[in-house]
Amino acid sequence: MTQKIILTFPSEVSGDPIIYELIRTYDIKVNILKAEIQPGQIGTLLVELDAEEDKVEQAKAFFTSRGIATNPVSSRISYDESRCIHCGNCASACFAGALRITPPDWRLHFDPEKCIACKLCLKSCPLRLFSIEFSPLN
Ligand code: SF4
Ligand code: SF4
Repeated sequence: MTQKIILTFPSEVSGDPIIYELIRTYDIKVNILKAEIQPGQIGTLLVELDAEEDKVEQAKAFFTSRGIATNPVSSRISYDESRCIHCGNCASACFAGALRITPPDWRLHFDPEKCIACKLCLKSCPLRLFSIEFSPLN
């Protein structure tokens, strides 16, 4: 299975080789999709973990043991569905395929599992309906 999660590092461990340690200890594939982190500061990584479910859970427990918060991407991205006019602009911008206008209703559908938190939808929506909380450094 693959799972995308946002890791929030406290300043005390943001300079540590945490990902290296994770890969060595748990033999897990880690794809870093986005990084906003510097030693000595609070930072965030958007990562995709590719492993069996029990290993993914072990990885999350490892992060927690090091004081690193783990949050699924979907919990950080939202849009105001009630104001959406289903124009499709955001779906055109979303190369990950998380936003799609599909038949039979031709309305916007959001699949959080596919979202990589690239933020392209934020700029593409003429009504500015999207919000994303990714990094405390933003
Ligand atoms: S953040 Fe990127 S991947 Fe996620 S819904 Fe927006 S455009 Fe799609
Ligand atoms: S760009 Fe905005 S208004 Fe248009 S479909 Fe996407 S969320 Fe709805």
